Amino acid sequence: MTARKSELLAKKESGPDNPYLLLTPGPLSTSPSVRAAMLRDWCTWDDDYNQLVQSIRRRLVSLAAAKPDGYTSVLMQGSGTFCVEAVISSAVPKDGKLLVLTNGAYGDRIAKIASVHGIPMVRMAFGEMEPVNPDSLAEKLEQDTAITHVAVIHCETTTGMLNPLEQIAHVVKRFNKILIVDAMSSFGGIPLDAAELGADFLVSSANKCIQGVPGFGFVIAKTASLEACKGQARSLSLDLYDQWETMEKHDGKWRYTSPTHTVRAFYQALVELEEEGGVGARNKRYADNQRLLVEGMEGLGFSCLLPARWQSPIITSFRYPDHPEFRFETFYERLKQAGFVIYPGKISQAETFRIGNIGEVYAEDIERLVQAVKANMYWR
Ligand SMILES: *Cc1c(COP(=O)(O)O)cnc(C)c1O
Repeated sequence: MTARKSELLAKKESGPDNPYLLLTPGPLSTSPSVRAAMLRDWCTWDDDYNQLVQSIRRRLVSLAAAKPDGYTSVLMQGSGTFCVEAVISSAVPKDGKLLVLTNGAYGDRIAKIASVHGIPMVRMAFGEMEPVNPDSLAEKLEQDTAITHVAVIHCETTTGMLNPLEQIAHVVKRFNKILIVDAMSSFGGIPLDAAELGADFLVSSANKCIQGVPGFGFVIAKTASLEACKGQARSLSLDLYDQWETMEKHDGKWRYTSPTHTVRAFYQALVELEEEGGVGARNKRYADNQRLLVEGMEGLGFSCLLPARWQSPIITSFRYPDHPEFRFETFYERLKQAGFVIYPGKISQAETFRIGNIGEVYAEDIERLVQAVKANMYWR
């Protein structure tokens, strides 16, 4: 296929109202049926709407754990960060101490949240190009016995690094600490079992691997750990316990105005995840996308930032090509014209850009993207 033809096809397939495919890990490209689900209004206190909310909460818990007993879920207005902040500022008591494991911008953000709220915190930084090391974590927990809570990012979207969550959880549970997992960019796209991990709080949002539109996030929590948050919140709007208690007692009611259209779209996205075959099938599609992307890009002379063994199937960082005429801004604009939006890099140690492959994105899209990259490597 000629490059021009593939560009035209890209425009056609991304649809008249969507001039490009978002290869950005949230918000991401959604299906036409998810977008169509938003075309009606809902009353926030009516039973129809609250039953939708309850069904979403139940579905989330069953997605998170094969044996969901003892787990519950709560939805929270805002972007994913609002949910992370709700958990951090509600879960750590006054006399608690949070250990934040960081190897990218999202880990740093958790540390910043803790510092804004004046929460006693210690941080272990592994550098942007190294995964969290479970052995160093064990040493830290051995040495600093004041630590009560440990927060970690599952897939560090900054680089695409997948942290070894199972080993990390194992260490945290061996030391009997509360485990908080930012699974924002992995939940629904990478199989995980909160109950097997012993995770106390697992956070994600509507516009990542479940493939909904932005507007709210959610927390899957051990019921007992959530109950322990009562009266601990440092903020009214982000009081995780209060939000949960209202949803429980009033059968799906949110405390304040909820993003009704987004919630309805999310319900549709959950149905479509099921229709696709669940998290396993979605993971396979993302992994296939990622493999095709790397093969194609490497074929054009690009190289990946991370070694394959640490690379997630969610988003991939590529180094700038070693050519004096490469300008990211031009490359970005040309790809956008061709129907694909990519992501700038976010790390300080190397010049990179990122390409996400989650969302309503299939092998054919990645093949077209690689053709578009080839046609727009203007410095060649
Ligand atoms: C997307 C994301 C968040 C939340 O970002 P928002 O912009 O607030 O939605 C948090 N952590 C990770 C790892 C993410 O990928």
